[in-house]
Parts: sequence; C-alpha cells; structure tokens
Amino acid sequence: MRSISNSIYVLACLGLLLYGCEEPVREDPFVGMGAARWDVGKSANFLLSDDRFTKLELEIAYMEGFRPTDVLLEEMVGFLEEVTFKPEGVVLTLREIPAEGEEFYSAEAIASLEDQYRQSYNEGNTVSVFLLVVDGNFMQDETEFFTIGAAYRNTSMVLFGKRIMESSGGFRRPPRGILETTVALHELGHLLGLVNVGTEMVTPHEDEEQEFHCDEETCLMYWTVETSNVFLFVPQTIRTLDANCRNDLRANGGR
Ligand SMILES: [Zn+2]
Ligand SMILES: [Zn+2]
Repeated sequence: MRSISNSIYVLACLGLLLYGCEEPVREDPFVGMGAARWDVGKSANFLLSDDRFTKLELEIAYMEGFRPTDVLLEEMVGFLEEVTFKPEGVVLTLREIPAEGEEFYSAEAIASLEDQYRQSYNEGNTVSVFLLVVDGNFMQDETEFFTIGAAYRNTSMVLFGKRIMESSGGFRRPPRGILETTVALHELGHLLGLVNVGTEMVTPHEDEEQEFHCDEETCLMYWTVETSNVFLFVPQTIRTLDANCRNDLRANGGR
C-alpha cells in the first residue's frame, strides 16, 4: 500500500512540475499593515536586533498645535540608536495631521486614527514604529489618576498632548520637554518588550503589583512614569533604564 501511495504522490508531483509547479506565493507576515496589528512587545526582537530588520523608521504624526519638542525628537532617536542594532540607521519622519478637537479619545478612536494617518509600515529591511500625538486626553482618565501616554500595539504608541500641556511648565511641574520625552521613552520601552512583555528578564525585576513595569523606582520603566504620579518626583531630568532593564534589551538582541 505504501509503495502505491508513494507512486501516486510522485505522479502528482510530476504532474505539477509539468504544469508549472510553482511555490505558492507566501506573503511575508512581518511586513505591511498586518505586521502592525500584534500585541505590545511582540516585535521587541525585530526592533532590537539586526536579524530581520537593519533599519528603523520612527514615524511621528501630531495633531495641529501639538508638535513634540525638539528634545523629544532628539532623545527618541538617540535612545533607539543607543539600545538597538540598526546598522543602516534610525530615521525620523515628522508630520502634522488635522486636529480632531475631541476632549477624550477612546482606545478604538486612537486605533482608527492610526489606520487613517500612519504611512510607514515594515518594508524590506526597515522596521517601523508609529507615535501618535492627539489633542485630547484618554477616555478612561480619572482626575486623580491619569494617563499621559500608552503603548497599544506592537509598534504603536500614543501621547495625550493636552494632558502633557496641562501637566508641564510652571511651579512644581516638570518642563514640557522633559515630561513628554520621559513618557515617550517609557512607551518605547514597552514596545521593546519591557518589562517581561516580549523580552525575557535576565534577572527577575517585574514589579509585583504593577505588571510589565520595573521594580526599581528610579528606572524609566517604573509604573508611575506614564501616570499622574510622575509629578510626585517633579522630574527635572529624563529618566534612564536601570541595569536590569538594560540587560534585558541586550539579551534580546539589543545593543
Ligand atoms: Zn508603562
Ligand atoms: Zn528597570
């Protein structure tokens, strides 16, 4: 029986060869829009290493009136150059989009704005990261405890521009550049798999009560950084990664 079925198999293949047996066209699952629909942390290795992508594009789309500070632009590129292996470099594209004028944005609204305005997706050797800056606040905000930014897909982040404007400058508040840069780098850290969300921990250091965050209070990946609690520290400098977070990135292909 076996030899008969083998013969049939061979004949079938011969038939296919005769009629132009082609490999089925397989779409590369790691490029295009489909590869930008995964969960946070799922592209950490692609972003960190040069195994699959040797160049990184950071696309920033901001609503009119909410252009990020030069501090943010320089620091984000510098951070990526420092922690990722991208021999063909890190490039930034910055674009203004129309203001929506909404006071609050739901997670769904943010996702659909990305669908509308994001232009760059993984292509060829380039891996792409998208940062959206909106002119309002997050829908789930409560006055006591609010969100300044979020990482919401494997290569997507959002900053709430209005919240940043309201929360920076003036007495006992951080300078705007420091605040928005700190939050943007924190969200970028999540996309790079920190903490324990796509990049394995070399030494356990995930906060016991705040998952996906570092247990070191002074680290960029401490949970308070993206919330109102950041003001408890009134940061005057941009936070950096502690040794544990830094080691995790290296172990997952980073620099
Ligand atoms: Zn966080
Ligand atoms: Zn850390």
